[in-house]
Amino acid sequence: MTELRTAAKKASGCATCDAVCCRLTVVLQPEDKIPSHLTTHLPNGLHVMKHDEDGWCVAINSTRMNCGIYESRPSVCRRFVMNGPYCKAVRADYVEERASAAR
Ligand code: SF4
Ligand code: SF4
Repeated sequence: MTELRTAAKKASGCATCDAVCCRLTVVLQPEDKIPSHLTTHLPNGLHVMKHDEDGWCVAINSTRMNCGIYESRPSVCRRFVMNGPYCKAVRADYVEERASAAR
């Protein structure tokens, strides 16, 4: 494991994170009530949250880097566990991606 990955794994909490999970594909469920201007359909037909040109979900509050529709966020987002294995993995990948880009 690289030092960067180790650092990312040790880092904890959304407050120190660039809302990396909000760069993932969020597939919407029938129960989700999201305004249509925030969503799109992929070529394979999946109904998902739209992303901006930098890769983040368009519902993000880019000043605070948190969810701008928190109270009505999709069910997939509600189930995402802070500091769970997936959270740690996406953070580590993001740190490594940024380090590579800076080289
Ligand atoms: S849940 Fe994990 S990846 Fe998402 S903002 Fe919080 S720390 Fe970052
Ligand atoms: S809906 Fe909110 S929590 Fe879900 S990906 Fe978009 S900004 Fe993040």
